[in-house]
Amino acid sequence: MAATLFWICRDFRIRDNPSLCAAANEGPVLPVFVIDRALMAQGAASRWRLARALKAFDAELRYRLGQGVLVLRGEPEEVLPALAARQAARTIHASDWPCPAMRQAQDRLSSRLDGVALHLHPGHLLIHPAALRSTTGGTYRVYSAFARSLRNIGPDRPCPAPTLLTLASDRPAGEDVQTLDLAPDLYSGEAVLERHALPAGETAAWQALGDFIDRLAGYQAGRDRIDRHATSCLSEALALGEISPRSIWAAIQQSHAHSGDAQKFLSELIWREFAWHLLISFPAMAQRPWREEWAAFPWRNRDPAFEAWRQARTGIPLVDAGLREMRVTGRMHNRARMVCASYLTKHLLIDWRQGLAHFADSLTDWDPAANAMNWQWVAGCGPDAAPFFRIFNPLTQAKRFDPEARYQRRWLLGHLGSDSDAARDYFDTLPSDWIVPQCYDAKEAAEDLASGRRAALAAYEGMRV
Ligand SMILES: Cc1cc2nc3c(=O)[nH]c(=O)nc-3n(C[C@H](O)[C@H](O)[C@H](O)COP(=O)(O)OP(=O)(O)OC[C@H]3O[C@@H](n4cnc5c(N)ncnc54)[C@H](O)[C@@H]3O)c2cc1C
Repeated sequence: MAATLFWICRDFRIRDNPSLCAAANEGPVLPVFVIDRALMAQGAASRWRLARALKAFDAELRYRLGQGVLVLRGEPEEVLPALAARQAARTIHASDWPCPAMRQAQDRLSSRLDGVALHLHPGHLLIHPAALRSTTGGTYRVYSAFARSLRNIGPDRPCPAPTLLTLASDRPAGEDVQTLDLAPDLYSGEAVLERHALPAGETAAWQALGDFIDRLAGYQAGRDRIDRHATSCLSEALALGEISPRSIWAAIQQSHAHSGDAQKFLSELIWREFAWHLLISFPAMAQRPWREEWAAFPWRNRDPAFEAWRQARTGIPLVDAGLREMRVTGRMHNRARMVCASYLTKHLLIDWRQGLAHFADSLTDWDPAANAMNWQWVAGCGPDAAPFFRIFNPLTQAKRFDPEARYQRRWLLGHLGSDSDAARDYFDTLPSDWIVPQCYDAKEAAEDLASGRRAALAAYEGMRV
């Protein structure tokens, strides 16, 4: 019997999955995941996390329906037409994950299909970008106008899970999903990452959402406190499509529609949406500054200070703490991300693209749009970005958002008498030639920050002349 292909792009879920629903409506479905060059070119931590999403989804399908995901290696335009021919499939359904590399793969696949239709479905975003245009018909460049317009129109409604889903049992042999290793190049701390990992999969994502809804009151006041567990921790699940933003939006509206905390949280989901709409209209956003005049900014490249930053030994406690959190857990609190990025691009004057690449390699919630937009936002070269001359002082930020230094003690062994296990874990991830400072000199840090700030402002003035 013929089967319809459901090509999994970044939608490891059953609920609110329009491509899976469309495939299910046509009869038996063959869910297929393709390990291609574009995937293997992504950062190691995000590949490691993707393998966990894939394993969880495969296990869920096996448990419910007796069959899992078919995993093939190769380029989509080669393996999918051959698979479609073998299964006598007339259609391939996939979600429209609008990442530039995926868009190119989908275009190449379309041009190679003969008698088989490729249907792309929404689901990764709250609303289709074509439905949200500025008054001049283009993409919004200012977040506040974008957010207002999105709230006025309202996001698309989530679609229900398929009522009848059967999986094709006649299928070729694929890779063994449960033993798959997509990140053999991950640095030596895989066991450490595993120890700190959040649970993966759709069920876990819905549990995390439920847990967050129970503690939503306090989000607005607490979300910037680096030392608190005040945010949703849903970014990995969103990045992997284990839960859709439309489902999250609907659940928050249902439970707390009018609270300030809910509205603040929804505005963060809108930042994610804004990033994607920007990336779709400017696919080079990870390589080129949005504002062209920034192409001439005198960034320092090949500077040894970058290596010190990457290795989390800058001598600035909050910066080192954030970078160590990322190395140990694959995640970093948003406020710490802003401080680390600001320190790199302003105090050290290092090109934002170097920081972006390090985050892309290290974050388990890596998202090409959010990462690029935020780096450009912090560096000052993006649309609606923070002005370059607004320079975070990491010592002041630490006083405000980590007033008892709990976060810094959690990640910096020996700092202020810290003996934390998490901080110790960092050392299990290190190559033998990395040297790590054990104590911090507040006077030296303040002096470095003051001279870095002066250099940053001078470089900025130079660009404007
Ligand atoms: C330099 C830099 C790089 C970043 N890189 C990424 C990245 O690769 N992947 C990623 O998902 N986020 C990135 N962010 C945004 C943000 O730090 C994370 O989304 C957030 O820390 C995730 O934690 P949470 O799920 O608990 O957030 P919550 O506060 O609970 O927010 C809910 C959701 O809203 C979205 N969101 C929140 N803040 C932002 C933001 N500033 N921009 C875009 N979306 C946002 C996320 O999807 C998040 O899961 C980056 C931020 C900075 C400053």
